[in-house]
Amino acid sequence: MADICDDAQQAEAYVLQAALASVPRIDLGPGPLYLDGVVCCRSCQEPICSARIKAVPRCSHCRDCAEEAQGG
Ligand SMILES: [Zn+2]
Repeated sequence: MADICDDAQQAEAYVLQAALASVPRIDLGPGPLYLDGVVCCRSCQEPICSARIKAVPRCSHCRDCAEEAQGG
C-alpha cells in the first residue's frame, strides 16, 4: 500500500524538479526589495513595473538599472 504513496511523491518531486529546471536562470539575484509591500529596485528603490515582475519574477533591479549593469 505504501508503494502507491511513494510513487506519487516521487512523481511529484520529479515534476517539480523538471519545472524548476526549465525556468531560465537569468537575473536570479537576491530578489527585489519590498518597500511598503511594493516590489522595488535594489539600486534606485523605484517600483518595478508589473510586466517586468511577470517576465522575471525574481528580478532585483528595474529594467533601467539591469540594462545599466549589463553595459547596455
Ligand atoms: Zn533601478
